[in-house]
Amino acid sequence: RAKQQGQNSYRIYNAEISARSTGWITLQTRLRRALEKNEFVLHYQPQVDVVSGEIAGAEALIRWQPDGGKLVPPGEFIPALEESGLILDVGEWALRTACVQQRQWFLAGYPPITMSVNVSAVQFHTAQFVEKMAVILAETGMDPSFLCLELTESIVMRDVADTIDTLGKLRVLGVSLSLDDFGTGYSSLCYLRKMPISELKIDRSFIASLSHDQNSSMIVSTIISMAHCLNMRVVAEGVETMSQLEYLRTNSCQTVQGFLFSKPVPACEFPSSGFAHT
Ligand code: C2E
Ligand code: MG
Ligand code: MG
Ligand code: MG
Repeated sequence: RAKQQGQNSYRIYNAEISARSTGWITLQTRLRRALEKNEFVLHYQPQVDVVSGEIAGAEALIRWQPDGGKLVPPGEFIPALEESGLILDVGEWALRTACVQQRQWFLAGYPPITMSVNVSAVQFHTAQFVEKMAVILAETGMDPSFLCLELTESIVMRDVADTIDTLGKLRVLGVSLSLDDFGTGYSSLCYLRKMPISELKIDRSFIASLSHDQNSSMIVSTIISMAHCLNMRVVAEGVETMSQLEYLRTNSCQTVQGFLFSKPVPACEFPSSGFAHT
């Protein structure tokens, strides 16, 4: 009986695996074609200065629009891009597109804003990453001091020696670095101090629970003070309500990002002026 059960579950397991991998391979093939067909787009979400209401920056967020249809969010295809290695080409495309956009806004006469771009682990830990970054900066003519790369704690804490080396080289290029989703990973404070990181982004889960979880409010205010002690900027992500904004303002968080101000939007819909009276 036991043996039979074992065989059955083995069969079920096998069937599931092959169904999953068939879907997976199809997805990877479609994603490969998507890059050739130019089906990826970047949307931009404003980062707002809590004191002045001015737009301080934009975060570029990728979407996929297969056959001009509905937008697919990154959570549904980034893992497949990473698995297949396609993230290298798509990530490079995203970096280049964001730099071109930043430059275009600047040339159109808008006050210069920081452009933040998410970088995946696979991309960051390849040997040519810094070199590629330098080429993109040279070719697009973007001022590197306005480019900010968003890395997660897991990227940075994986292979710390390599990370410190790469971060140093990026710093030399003049690019600044941000730790995304901060508070959800396992950053060692000791390493954090050794890394040339200029910004912490407080994870949206802490902001979401500000109103009903005392621990979250403590964590948020602690991250803000810690960032300031370490001479880092701090950005709160996922700000949706006025009371969240008030809490952040009272606790000296300089910059916020979230649906309260704007969802990520196509470049042509990006707000041309700040948000007064908030
Ligand atoms: P992330 O970098 O932490 O981006 C923030 C996510 O929160 C975005 O989701 C954004 O749309 C969402 N968000 C912003 N404000 C609010 C809010 O007020 N409320 C709520 N509920 N959500 C908000 P999105 O665009 O789906 O991106 C998800 C993740 O995909 C990003 O998380 C980032 O890790 C990754 N990603 C996006 N674009 C790229 C890219 O070009 N390259 C790489 N490697 N990863 C990317
Ligand atoms: Mg991000
Ligand atoms: Mg984030
Ligand atoms: Mg996130």
